[in-house]
Amino acid sequence: MNTKSYKDFLKEIFPQHKQVRKVSLNAGFSCPNLDGTTGAGGCTYCNNNSFSSVAATQSSLLEQLETGIKNVRKKKKEIGILAYFQSYTNTHAPVQKLREVYTPVVSHSDVAGIAVGTRPDCLPSQVVELLAELNKAKPVIVEIGVQTANNETLKNINRNHTAECTRNAAKSCKDAGLAITAHIIIGLPGENTNDFANTANLVRDCGFSSVKIHPLHIVKGTHFAEEYQKGKIKLLSLEEYCKAATEVIRIVSPDTAIERISGESPSDMLLAPAWSRDRNLIISKLPILCN
Ligand code: SF4
Repeated sequence: MNTKSYKDFLKEIFPQHKQVRKVSLNAGFSCPNLDGTTGAGGCTYCNNNSFSSVAATQSSLLEQLETGIKNVRKKKKEIGILAYFQSYTNTHAPVQKLREVYTPVVSHSDVAGIAVGTRPDCLPSQVVELLAELNKAKPVIVEIGVQTANNETLKNINRNHTAECTRNAAKSCKDAGLAITAHIIIGLPGENTNDFANTANLVRDCGFSSVKIHPLHIVKGTHFAEEYQKGKIKLLSLEEYCKAATEVIRIVSPDTAIERISGESPSDMLLAPAWSRDRNLIISKLPILCN
């Protein structure tokens, strides 16, 4: 079975660069699911500090970018820079404000392109038009939090959007010529192998260029942490996760590149499972990625 690596996907988008690395940025946006715009309390698994290394930074955007570039290029000077608007919801602001934030980063001479992390309900047509305009200057990748295709689960984890919303957002980005990446979670409470396959089918059918697959992991300071400590959440074993991930990869391949298959939480914030951060261990149990 042919699978596509994220490296291959980046080579297609940035043919002039042998290697491209992300530099994470916090542009100071909020999230509509935290600030009351669409919901309050946030997603039940979310502690933004756990998946964005820059979530708590006080530095300006350009300072963050310069520091990130310096770090990435310590060993290889020629690496292309993909500026990654990672923290919170990076399209949750008026279009004029978004333009002011994105433009200096896109114009930076060391930046090869940008990736913008957001929710499917935060991509109205004016925002997609702006991203499409920037995409003419440098490649723009839109990273969309899909999580699952199951609307009941989306409700239970307090996402405050539906799978239909994901379909519409993906279509409008694709129609505008933008590359899209899906973030999905395997092992959400109440889900089984059929749900994982349905989520993979959604990713494939929407034409996502790449996917980040995360095992459900419990992070301190979240609603899920409280539930887990009360014994109300059962996590997948490493073997169960790898079996499910293999099926997801089989469904989305070869068109969708696999960007990530492990969790992103720092060890001091992770409650469980410990294996979820061990990328090499997970890869060793996913022979499908070696074929
Ligand atoms: S996971 Fe994303 S959408 Fe959900 S509360 Fe956190 S920042 Fe907001």
